[in-house]
Amino acid sequence: MGADIMKACLPQELLLKRRAEILHALCSSGSVEHLERVMDMLLAQGELGWEDCQNVLVPGRALYSNARQLLDLVYTKGSASCELFFNAVKQILPEALGDAFFSPGCHSTLDFREKPQRTPTDELLTQRPELVLKLQDCIDGALRVLVESGHFSSTDCDGIQLPIYTPSQQARRLLDHVRSKGELASLVVLKYVQQSLESESSLEQTNPSLTKEFVKYQKKLRSSVSAQSRFLSTYGGTSHMPLDDIYTEVQMELPNNSADNYKFMGFEEIIGPVGSVNDDADTVLASGEAGSGKSTWLQRLHLLWAQGKVLQDFLLLFPFSCRRLNSEQRDLSVQELLFQHCCWPDRGQEEIFQFILDHPHLVLFTFDGLDELKQCFVDEHRICCPSQRAPVHVLLFNLIQGSLMKGVRKVVTSRPEAVGPALKKHLHKEIHLKGFSPSGIDCFVRKHHSDPNEAAKVLESLQANTALLGLCHSPVLCWIVSQCHKELLGCGEGSLQTITDVYLMILQHFFQHHSTVKSAIGVNWLQENLGTVLHLGQLAFEGISNSSYIFSVTDMETCGVTESDICMGFLIQSKDMSLASSKCYEFLHITLQCFLAALFAILSRNTGSSVISKLFELQEMKKKRLRGTCFGACLNSTNIPNIVEEHSIMAETPNLQITATFVSGLLSQRYQKLWIQCSSSVLVEKKTKQAEKCLSKGMQQHFRSIPQPMQEEKKSMHAMPEFVWLIKCIYEMQNIRLAKDAMSKLEAEHLKLTYCNIGPVECTALAYVLQHLKNPVGIQLDNNSVGDVGVEQLLPCMHICNSLYLRNNNITDEGIRKLIDKVIHLPNFQKIALFNNRLTDACTKHFSYLLKTRQNFLSLRLGNNNITAEGAKQLAEGLKFNHSLQYLGLWGNKIGNEGAEALANALQNSESIVWLSLVGNDVGSAGACAMSNIIRNSTSLEELWLTENCITRTGVESLTEALKHNRHVKSV
Ligand code: ADP
Repeated sequence: MGADIMKACLPQELLLKRRAEILHALCSSGSVEHLERVMDMLLAQGELGWEDCQNVLVPGRALYSNARQLLDLVYTKGSASCELFFNAVKQILPEALGDAFFSPGCHSTLDFREKPQRTPTDELLTQRPELVLKLQDCIDGALRVLVESGHFSSTDCDGIQLPIYTPSQQARRLLDHVRSKGELASLVVLKYVQQSLESESSLEQTNPSLTKEFVKYQKKLRSSVSAQSRFLSTYGGTSHMPLDDIYTEVQMELPNNSADNYKFMGFEEIIGPVGSVNDDADTVLASGEAGSGKSTWLQRLHLLWAQGKVLQDFLLLFPFSCRRLNSEQRDLSVQELLFQHCCWPDRGQEEIFQFILDHPHLVLFTFDGLDELKQCFVDEHRICCPSQRAPVHVLLFNLIQGSLMKGVRKVVTSRPEAVGPALKKHLHKEIHLKGFSPSGIDCFVRKHHSDPNEAAKVLESLQANTALLGLCHSPVLCWIVSQCHKELLGCGEGSLQTITDVYLMILQHFFQHHSTVKSAIGVNWLQENLGTVLHLGQLAFEGISNSSYIFSVTDMETCGVTESDICMGFLIQSKDMSLASSKCYEFLHITLQCFLAALFAILSRNTGSSVISKLFELQEMKKKRLRGTCFGACLNSTNIPNIVEEHSIMAETPNLQITATFVSGLLSQRYQKLWIQCSSSVLVEKKTKQAEKCLSKGMQQHFRSIPQPMQEEKKSMHAMPEFVWLIKCIYEMQNIRLAKDAMSKLEAEHLKLTYCNIGPVECTALAYVLQHLKNPVGIQLDNNSVGDVGVEQLLPCMHICNSLYLRNNNITDEGIRKLIDKVIHLPNFQKIALFNNRLTDACTKHFSYLLKTRQNFLSLRLGNNNITAEGAKQLAEGLKFNHSLQYLGLWGNKIGNEGAEALANALQNSESIVWLSLVGNDVGSAGACAMSNIIRNSTSLEELWLTENCITRTGVESLTEALKHNRHVKSV
């Protein structure tokens, strides 16, 4: 429609004629922001009253319906109203309706001092549009002054800052709330805004390179990042938990920097140069298993940045969720990606983007959950022009590897499975998140329970059940256990052992929480809620089968998910930017989706036992089978695609494996009676048999892959990644027969499980299965995260262990105390290696006792710990009474001369010691002179290592002299 015709029309007529166009302009972005801004202006001009607003903005009603309501309202109010309405639209969306036909409205600027006749509440109303713009950038500060002046309580603040509101909505809520508190409160806000305007203009003067538009954008971004990250979503269903109140530090490991492992690392250090493997690369990767706390850690980074507490050298931070990026179907440029998916600049887009291009080192991008992106990282399709449009995953890969926006730092989180060599090449560094430490568990539980008695009880029951304590190293499990403390305390000591037990507990907890009968949940709780379980289960299952984690209303309808199923709390509403206008949901956590998928696989009468074999299929076989049948085909459902491409199956393997682990647990004998009322028992039995068969077959395949030993060499089995998973499945199933059967077929003398991501939970499972081995083996667990709790979990299988290798496993003296308490009675146990743990002198009295007691103990390696002269003296006490030890390694401790002298004294007449290392121990000549006595007198010593000490000429001469008289020593 041409401008001339428009000018000829009356405002009311025009409103009717251009209705569709106006609605589109107001609503097509999917955000309610434009509509609300128009209403602000009409409110300020007195054209709308509060009641009108309530009639227009009906919560839960579709955006378009609300906008229609407004159009109807201004139409009925008459010509003048329509005219003001057009003016408002014109100001807010200058381009939207083409040429202007009315004079621009009176655009006011903030100015409170000139009109003393108006009351502060009047001012709040007449200046509303400008106040909203201003306040959205400084909600925190405004709330602070309101609390300090006694007008607001913290509950008032929480109500305003709910993360479901955008910053501008929070500003409006603040204004409305202040209005209800009266004139003084209004005055406080007006003064605060005026002061912050003044300080803003002085900031711009001191920092002239940042333009006004940039500063505004920065504030908007900061407050939107803050709003998104303030609360933890796992608490969303029941209550709001501020991240600040619950966040507990997680353990971290820098793989190439063992000295710093498990040490607390701040965000500055993580982003900075420490532990860099590639100084040219800009991407820092934080990897960890599902539930290890990656998203929460990143959320913490976002929040602390937004609060101005960390990483302030970065002026802009753009947070992305890969899960949400999956639903972006359009090709985008980097500029569109940043502005449309993170924060929209109200003005000066080009200028702000140019700033980003000119100052990449001042900008930080974060990408959460790279493993959830539908496409695997590849380094193929290169683009380097920021204005070039491309599919979002292509942009993402180019950003990560640096051909786009070189110099911008990126932080990416992912599960380890999705991190291949192609990606590693482009990493500045990689850190591993390792969940909570034992003290972290304690700290989390205390934060979670405001009642200290309740916290103490939970902690007590964890201490009494170390298998459960082991599980709690995973933050997601610690969260469940804390959520379900009532069930936990009510279910009797030791009854929770497996991950499946814990997830069944939370399932029951949610149902209990929503049970209409508030009495204890019935014995048939599952049957009572079977409909919900099957609906949600199907949704979860189909999601896992085709890498979907966000579900539309249509997806939910297809699976029969009802409003009351949603209310149970397993699903939370997803904040998906690109689908903002329609509601979407996701599961509270990916592991919960896997659990519900597993329940569906078992309970659905439509899934046969073939679904079980597909779930258990090993990755290697899966690759071979790719072009054949597919996982989805096992389900009699229409909407699972029949062709799943290789990369998505590969990306999905971890979730399928978690689901299979739950399937194993659910098919345990212990739970069979739970299923009787809920499914066909014949079918469940068939599925159980199938799962057992798959596990047994999987183990055998593994054992077949063990190469024949070379002559004289021990037969050794190096675990493939899936070995630990199979072991965990057998443990979840609590199937001793299966464990015995598998172990009877294992013919190896040495099990190598290095770098297998073994923590306490895996140790529990390993011990459960390995204890059934027929012959003693060496168990090599170097470079995992066993920790003290893991050591304790391994105890049940120590009787079949002759050598235990636990290098680099975060073990302390306490773990050693428990270990030695056990192995002291086990004649098979002869060797231990504990290089690079956290041992101090306190552990040496236990080793001393071991040496005294066990006269067939052969090898003790304690390198790179914190043992001093005192510890060496303790060891010497044990060595005096020992006649069997052949290898003693103390490399990289601090035993000094005194320690060396004590050891030499104990070993000088030894007839067993063959190899002794005191490398790097601050040993001087006095120590070396003492060592010469061993060379001189011991009949067995063959190698003595003394490098990296401070031995001078006297010491060397003494050693050389001693060597003249010796017949056994081969090297010093
Ligand atoms: P991941 O991203 O590794 O799968 P999440 O960060 O989603 O794991 O963690 C799952 C849940 O565990 C969170 O929703 C939260 O309840 C809890 N959690 C994780 N990390 C922490 C932490 N550092 N402090 C407190 N709770 C945490």
